Amino acid sequence: MCGQCCHDLRLPLSLDEALAWLTRGGTVQLFCEAIPWPDEPPASHLQAQHKRRRSFASNSAALPVRVIATIVATYDGPCPNLGADMRCGIYDARPRVCRIYPAESNPFIELAPASKACPPDAWSQHKPVFSVAGKLVDARIAQVIDESRAVDARDASLKDRLCALLRIDTAALANEGFAIHSPARDDALHALQSLDMHADRAAPESATQWRIVSNQRATVDTLASIGALHAHTSDCPNAAFEYLGFNAAT
Ligand code: SF4
Repeated sequence: MCGQCCHDLRLPLSLDEALAWLTRGGTVQLFCEAIPWPDEPPASHLQAQHKRRRSFASNSAALPVRVIATIVATYDGPCPNLGADMRCGIYDARPRVCRIYPAESNPFIELAPASKACPPDAWSQHKPVFSVAGKLVDARIAQVIDESRAVDARDASLKDRLCALLRIDTAALANEGFAIHSPARDDALHALQSLDMHADRAAPESATQWRIVSNQRATVDTLASIGALHAHTSDCPNAAFEYLGFNAAT
């Protein structure tokens, strides 16, 4: 009820949530990252399997990659659905990530109160217990997290098609940053409406060749040496994407 977690956000949305968000008049961005994927990892490599579920297979010229395209509603200040009384105006239809907060849907990220927007007294001893030894007390939140992971996996192959419809073919190298694409609202809306989101099959793989951009000269050189489509961000001054890098440019 403090409303702090409803301010200054990049709110990850599933495909159906993005469609609803756009229908209400909002806009979305796509945060794209590419993971070099020359070989399939063993089933025992749980983190790689998690990334595999959330991504779709594609290529960057000679380099097989998997691409994670995260749809995000970005806003500075209050969420457009937040009322002056700090109540959510779409409470019954709010995105899963809002239902889960402050828990994490990524199983490899621990809940760290210090990294959350909650006021410090939310974590004091006289407040309701949220989790014990890493296990959530509220079974409903745990259920939404499971649902969120399942939807994320279901959406992954459809995002290949979505990116092709929006002519998005540039990603950052995973763990280095994101290439952020900001399609016009109508274009994003029409592209999402044309996807068969509840089809019980994977969408046909697109022929998109992904270009991998980096602000690190050594990364660009490595990409070039293994035959991937590549570009240094300094060579993309008028690009149709923004680059959000985790490291200072070299
Ligand atoms: S949709 Fe509702 S719960 Fe989610 S950030 Fe916006 S106001 Fe908060």
